[in-house]
Order: sequence, then structure tokens, then C-alpha cells
Amino acid sequence: MLLYVHVPFCRAKCAYCAFASQPLDASDIEPYLEGLAAEAAHFSRALFRPAMDTVFIGGGTPSLLPDWALERLVSTLRRHFELPKGIEFTLEANPDSADLPKLGALRELGVNRLSLGVQSLNDRTLALLGRPHTAAQAVAAVSAARLAGFKNLSLDFIWGLPGMRPAAWLKQLKTVVEELKPEHLSCYNLTLEPGTPLAAAADAGSLPLPSDDEDARSFLYGSRFLSERGYLHYEISNFARMGFACRHNQGYWQGRDYLGLGPSAVSTIDHIRRENPKTLTSWLSSIDASRFDSHTETLDPATRLREYVMLSLRTSRGLSLAAYRSLAGRPFTTGRAAMLKVLREHNLIRLTKDTLRLTADGMLVSNTIISRLLDADLPQD
Ligand code: SF4
Repeated sequence: MLLYVHVPFCRAKCAYCAFASQPLDASDIEPYLEGLAAEAAHFSRALFRPAMDTVFIGGGTPSLLPDWALERLVSTLRRHFELPKGIEFTLEANPDSADLPKLGALRELGVNRLSLGVQSLNDRTLALLGRPHTAAQAVAAVSAARLAGFKNLSLDFIWGLPGMRPAAWLKQLKTVVEELKPEHLSCYNLTLEPGTPLAAAADAGSLPLPSDDEDARSFLYGSRFLSERGYLHYEISNFARMGFACRHNQGYWQGRDYLGLGPSAVSTIDHIRRENPKTLTSWLSSIDASRFDSHTETLDPATRLREYVMLSLRTSRGLSLAAYRSLAGRPFTTGRAAMLKVLREHNLIRLTKDTLRLTADGMLVSNTIISRLLDADLPQD
């Protein structure tokens, strides 16, 4: 089983952010930790103190919590769950709250994988995004992570940013690979989430967003460049050196069970999906009322099949035709042969006798391909 903990605090809201997060108020920390302890105790009892294969503390900005709070959080997890030695233990950090003492304290707590939200190495872009740090702070945080002993470092970046042409994206990737040398990179396309200041600026026409063609070139050139530099493009947005793919996220894509704790966290265990209330206040109210399963849904076989197709096609491993056949009771090609032929002719998929995978060109339009493939599915007998 995988364990995710959501820390809902940030220094301030970034201009593009649609995650469940709120500015950190010191008086919220104690209630948050108490809520987490109650939720962990409940699921520890319900699941007979399960052993976890990975731990991922995300947010929000977990590194913003003071050391005493992080210590309590981790000891809560150790008290209620089996966390075997050597499991992947990730924590998300932002460069402005990732100095050497903090990172050293995280290592002491057993964190062995750091995911640092860099997003851009251009200070003007960082300011436009409302990020609470500079590029120099990001570079300093990478050095501090190495000094603290992190040997598994992941950096988050965003491409398709205002004013960023494909050449600038490639130049930045070159700097990242040659100077920061992360083991893992997550590169997300900018998403303009409705209701965010950045989306409003785009609606008002005041953002110099790249064209679709430029976006496509950024993705394809970036993928090719990183592959040439030894990073496996193992999921649409993720690249890793050999042996450093994120085991936690791979678990999600493989459809493994996961327990999520904290506001907005999602769990899926034995085909039952549970979603926590999104805000700190609503989550704490449900914990106070001992409502640990307020929003649950049983995933029926058709939903599970759709999720398997959607998640597996995001990865370089692709969809196993045998696994599909055993889940669906029919071959994947049934009803889809003509569509698969066209996708192949356009170099969007690779189809062997065992697997179906998207090519890099296919990953670029993955949402369209996956939804067309799913729409072509036959109704369940
Ligand atoms: S740091 Fe991340 S979670 Fe926090 S406001 Fe910015 S984008 Fe959102």
C-alpha cells in the first residue's frame, strides 16, 4: 500500500494554483497535526496497521512546517503504520523553505527523496507565477539538498509559460541537466485553471502565451533532449535516470491501493475510493465528528477498466494487452482496429503483440487519443 499525506499550507497562493492550499497561519498547525493523528489512528485500526511501500508527503508546501511539526507528523505515521527500512520516502519542498538545517532535519526523519518545486530559472517568470522564491534560491536549495545527503532529488518545472519559446525551454533544460544534475524531473505543461489570477490575465489577453505549435516543439524537443542525456521519459510529465523513477507515482499508475490523509487527500483501497473534504476547516469538522468515510464511491469494473486504460497509457510501459483482456473479457483491439491502424500510421502509437504505447508524438495529444480509444469501447456484456 502507498501512503500520501497532504500538508495544506503555503507561504502564499501562486497565481496559477488550483491545489488545496492556504497561507500558513501558525495557529493552524496544532489542529492540523491533531486531525492527522486522529485520521491515522482510525485507518491504522481499520486496516490492521498496514505496511507501507512508499510515503509521499505533499501539498501545499510541507517544508514550510517548522521542524517540531514535521517531527510530530512523521512520528504519527511511524506510530500508526509499518514503514519498513529503505522504502521510498518523499517530501515536497519549495526553495524558500529548503535550507541546509531544514534539509538535514528531514534526512534525520528518514526522508530519502526530495521533490523541489523550482518551476522556472527565470526570475521574471517566477514573479509572474507568484512563486515565493528566486532562481538563485532554487539553485542554493539544490546544493543544500546534496550537502544534506539527498541522493534522490526531483525537480519540478513548468513548460509553455508566458514568453517561453521552445529554444528558451531547451536552454533551461540544458542548464538543469548540466548544473543541477537531478535524478528525476517532472515537467508539466502550464494549465490555466479557471478562477486563478493567471487564467484571468490570459482571458484579458495580457499574457504572451506560446502557440500550440511552439508548445508541441517544447514538449518534443525537451523529451528528445532529456532522453539523449540519459533520462527515461517514463510518464508523460516525468523523466528519470535509471533506477530513479518515482515508485510512489508508479504505484498510482499501476492501480495499487493507496491511503491518503489530510485535507483533499484521496484513497483507493479494495476498489473503494474515498475523498477527504478539501479545506482544512471542513476536513477538521469531519474528523471532529468521526466521519472518516463521508465521501466514498465503489469503483465498478467498467470504471476500473477505464482507469487502467487511462493510467497505463500515460506511461512508457504502456497498456498490457493481456491485462486488458483479463479485466475486460475481450481483446483491446475489438471495435478499435481501424482507429489503431490510423494512430499507427500517424506515428502516435506503438502496438506490439503484448503492449500498446503512446509515442512521444502521441503523448503530446494523449488526452484526445485516450478519450477516443475509450469512447470506442464496447459496452460491458
Ligand atoms: S507552492 Fe504549490 S501548492 Fe502552494 S500555492 Fe504554489 S502552486 Fe499551490
